[in-house]
Amino acid sequence: MLAGWLRFCANSLLDFALPPRCPACGIIVTDPHSFCTACWKQVEFLGNSGCRACGRPLASTEREECAVCLAQPPRIARSRAAVAYDDLSSGLAIRLKYGRKVAVARTMARYMAPLVKPDGEAPLLVPVPLHRTRLWARGFNQSALVASELSRKLGMPADPFVLRRTRRTPALKGMSSSQRRRAVAGAFRVRNKSRVEGRTVVLIDDVLTTGSTAEACARALMRAGAARVELVSWARVVRPSQLMR
Ligand SMILES: [Zn+2]
Ligand SMILES: [Zn+2]
Repeated sequence: MLAGWLRFCANSLLDFALPPRCPACGIIVTDPHSFCTACWKQVEFLGNSGCRACGRPLASTEREECAVCLAQPPRIARSRAAVAYDDLSSGLAIRLKYGRKVAVARTMARYMAPLVKPDGEAPLLVPVPLHRTRLWARGFNQSALVASELSRKLGMPADPFVLRRTRRTPALKGMSSSQRRRAVAGAFRVRNKSRVEGRTVVLIDDVLTTGSTAEACARALMRAGAARVELVSWARVVRPSQLMR
């Protein structure tokens, strides 16, 4: 309690000492952890639009779910991303990864929070894990930082340890979707089944490309008994040509 109060004072002091800045361009803004007007206009917010299951834009002939999800319901029951992947949103993800910026995680959580929809009891927030060698090299998992900010903001539990990446996976850039699927197959394990059994798990990721990593995570979680797996990410690749970069 005292520690929390002290932290609150320290944060308030910091907020007082340092004016909030736009996380993309760095100019001073009035509202902490939000974009300035110019950057905000540039960001393509995705929100709850698109297919009810996968979140991809719907064709004019489709109603709530896209033809792909209707034909075969996806393993991840609901996928949402705050923004479309572009230079601005990917720049933020890179700053989070290599700059260890808690403020960036807080900004992402702010825009991701409305997309986490509790379905009855509070879901368990689970960040997509890094392999331990990568974790040691980087010192932290960027998705775990975002998950802990979301947990604080929404009052939902987060567990960065329940899912484990058992082997290092190659960089997926430039691979076809079947190559990606093969590269991450079986790379994840649930450490403690009782944590996920019968629960809704919301996977938290920074950038969603083809979704093969999240799919592999979902497969491990469902095998361990999770009732439902959803995914909320910061940015999502909406134009397939960006996958090859
Ligand atoms: Zn800005
Ligand atoms: Zn769909």
